[in-house]
Amino acid sequence: MATTSSLQPPTRVLMGPGPSGANPRVLAAMTKPLLGHLDPDFLRVMDRCREMLRRVMVTENQVTLATPGTGTSGMEAGVMNVVEPGDRVVVGICGYFGERIAQMAERAGGVVTRVQSPWGEPVDAAAVEAAIRAAGKVKLLAIVHAETSTGAETPVEPFARIAREAGALLLVDCVTSLGGVPVRVDDWGADVVYSGTQKCLSAPPGAAPITLSARAWEAVRARETPVNTWYLDLGLLEAYWDERRVYHHTAPISMVYALHEALALVLEEGLEARWARHERNGRALQAGLEALGLTLHAQAGYRLPVLTTVRIPEGVEDAAVRGALLNRFGIEIGGGLGELRGRVWRIGLMGESSTAGNVLLLLNALGRLLREQGFPADIRAAVSAASERLRS
Ligand code: PLP
Repeated sequence: MATTSSLQPPTRVLMGPGPSGANPRVLAAMTKPLLGHLDPDFLRVMDRCREMLRRVMVTENQVTLATPGTGTSGMEAGVMNVVEPGDRVVVGICGYFGERIAQMAERAGGVVTRVQSPWGEPVDAAAVEAAIRAAGKVKLLAIVHAETSTGAETPVEPFARIAREAGALLLVDCVTSLGGVPVRVDDWGADVVYSGTQKCLSAPPGAAPITLSARAWEAVRARETPVNTWYLDLGLLEAYWDERRVYHHTAPISMVYALHEALALVLEEGLEARWARHERNGRALQAGLEALGLTLHAQAGYRLPVLTTVRIPEGVEDAAVRGALLNRFGIEIGGGLGELRGRVWRIGLMGESSTAGNVLLLLNALGRLLREQGFPADIRAAVSAASERLRS
């Protein structure tokens, strides 16, 4: 006879590229009673989510909602709703996720120009500007703000100017930045911005905040062809999220509760204070890793505080170290993605996981494992360098 047992996942310290640890209040919200997806009480929860999303994304955009699905659903909604067959699209790529946007734009029928930068550097604004001039009438310029595969941040403002001057819309992937690094949608002048719940918002994976400027919404409404996805058609989703309340899908009720609580926590902490916390902890980790004797991968000046890439020293076994971190210390970090596979570790300090305690825990545990592998990690120097930064 088959046996059954209740689910008992271990408790981990989530310091990879996502998901991050969730606040207990977020997890508790998911256990609240289910409501129907058209119940007036649930609709009020959606309204409050919308309002809080606008505050967290620093925008007054009417079309601001959360697509059902992980960050990729936000990406797919953004790209598929804007791009029509034959539209010219320029994508600034400096890592794995920029390439994903380019592939989606091609699937939407777009004629895509890729502008590549080395993995670890930000997207090159001058090269993008030249590509847009060469491409002729461009409908969409797309970049990733926080490239999770490399740990590099691309400053958005130059791209907003380039897009405006070219009459193009600007799409920005903020999956890893929202709630951890300053994202100011309206000040930037970005047209399509999306994120995910499982990074700096610190909720489980399962919803993707997205916002569209009036300009972008006009472009979506003016399409000559239907959007090439039914589930992520923003016209249909907006008709459910706004006062029309037209049934589109059965909303993931508990996930919307989680999003609600996560956004409330962000606003209770305050955006500025939250960004400062991520900055302080991230810089402390980076100072500590360097003091251990390691080399940071992303270009200095563009290093994200929420996701740090560090090079794996010669002779040290990637999988053995990550395995021991998980099994002996309960800490998850990420391996390299794409062309950085086997060359870097990716260490996240996002949302609830961004704490001084986690910085010091990781430096001690990693330092010890490196020493076991023959790398002369200076743990004392690392703790001292990190502690110094944590005090500042
Ligand atoms: N964009 C970026 C920058 C990401 O880091 C990720 C996930 O790591 C995604 C998009 C896709 O998000 P998800 O894996 O939640 O679908």
